This record gives sequence, C-alpha cells and structure tokens, in this order.
Amino acid sequence: MLVRGSVDEGVAKVFMEFGIEPVIDESRARCSKCNGELVELRGDERRRVKDLVFEQTYKHYDVFWLCERCNAVYFQGAYWTNMTRYMEKILELMDELRIKTPA
Ligand SMILES: [Zn+2]
Repeated sequence: MLVRGSVDEGVAKVFMEFGIEPVIDESRARCSKCNGELVELRGDERRRVKDLVFEQTYKHYDVFWLCERCNAVYFQGAYWTNMTRYMEKILELMDELRIKTPA
C-alpha cells in the first residue's frame, strides 16, 4: 500500500531528477482550463473581473489573473495556499533526500 509520505517522496524525486524547483511562478502560469495566457490585474485593472467573481472575492483579493482566451479568473485563494504549503513540503523532502543521497 502506498502511503502519502511515499507519494510525496516520489514527487520530490521527480522534481530533483528533472531539475524542477518547487516554487509557483505566477508570471509563467497558464490557464488550467484552456492553457491560455493569463494577464495579471492589479488596482483599477481589477475591474475587468468584477462581474466574473463573487463580490466578496472581488473585495478580498488585490490581484487577479484573467485568461484572455476563456475568461477564467484566478486569485490566491485556498487552493493557492494549499499548493504553496505542498511545494514547501516537497522542498523539505528534497533537502532530506539530498542529505541521504549526496551527489
Ligand atoms: Zn482559459
């Protein structure tokens, strides 16, 4: 049976093998629905997404990313926080693996 720890360790190994840094680079992010390019919207530019998100969401976030192809809107919500935490965990695992198996 695979336990969660070993799955994460597998992810860490793949990242190491391919030289992938476990960081989220929003400047290179693409739309997860259509792979379109995202535009970052701050300040007054945020108005472009006002009718596309819930009012509370609009008020809460300072930055949005809009897909110019399909109009999907992204912001740093719970999913982002979880992803960031997961990437930190992978980074820790990579450090542990490097200690166990020095190059
Ligand atoms: Zn899209």
